[in-house]
Amino acid sequence: MNPNCARCGKIVYPTEKVNCLDKFWHKACFHCETCKMTLNMKNYKGYEKKPYCNAHYPKQSFTMVADTPENLRLKQQSELQSQPRPKPPRPGGQGVKGSALGRGAVLPLSPLA
Ligand SMILES: [Zn+2]
Ligand SMILES: [Zn+2]
Repeated sequence: MNPNCARCGKIVYPTEKVNCLDKFWHKACFHCETCKMTLNMKNYKGYEKKPYCNAHYPKQSFTMVADTPENLRLKQQSELQSQPRPKPPRPGGQGVKGSALGRGAVLPLSPLA
């Protein structure tokens, strides 16, 4: 006697059977409730007898940490401060400087310079 799939209700044969969350599933039917990504025994997260992927598993802690605008602002600030600032490139590289010197040496001009 083969069980029925918890997702599609059709018979699950032993070769395609996933026994999880007290139910039987086709391998293809055992996917995330939210994004439909196919899951397996190793990477699924069970919640209320339903499989979720790691990203969509309804975490309890979501309600604990409120993402208020103030919290978000503080978080962004600390992230900005932790990043090393890249130095702005200087205007005029070494190439320009060198050629300017060369030109100055050639010019036979101006005792003021
Ligand atoms: Zn199925
Ligand atoms: Zn998902």
